[in-house]
Amino acid sequence: MKVFRSELQVGLKKKLFEIPSKSMEQDSIRFYENSIKCSISSEKSPHGYYLRGELNIPFLEQCDRCLADFKTEHNVDFSILFTDKKELVTDEEFDVVYFTKQQDNIDIAPVLMEYMTLDRSLKKLCRNDCKGICPSCGCNFNEENCNCMNDKADPSWDSLNKLN
Ligand SMILES: [Zn+2]
Ligand SMILES: [Zn+2]
Repeated sequence: MKVFRSELQVGLKKKLFEIPSKSMEQDSIRFYENSIKCSISSEKSPHGYYLRGELNIPFLEQCDRCLADFKTEHNVDFSILFTDKKELVTDEEFDVVYFTKQQDNIDIAPVLMEYMTLDRSLKKLCRNDCKGICPSCGCNFNEENCNCMNDKADPSWDSLNKLN
């Protein structure tokens, strides 16, 4: 995901980019579309170039409760400063990127990856009222029911089981 100095000099105005999802996949981060859409505007700043944009992320997540995959779309605003002033670039601020006068382009994928990681919800639920799965047989209570719990609750079944 490269941005060219020539583009920055002219200035980007809500330019649309499509980032191949494969290039952003990482550990548990997966997507349900082939590309991640991104629109970027830029302007010159006293320290370099200032980028603002929005990512449209088609996350494919796994539900913590029922373990099924589900789709969740996130829109994330981001801003990045490209600067050749080394003193402004620190470990704490991932969105300030060192960009020397010799570079004619810069890869913003690592910064976008940070934004993406920060935006992911810690708690992942396919829906707020997800009923989860049966701890005994593993059936998904959102889709079907089983008799495991009923069996345990009913003492007459208990005694029958003992006979077997
Ligand atoms: Zn679920
Ligand atoms: Zn069950």
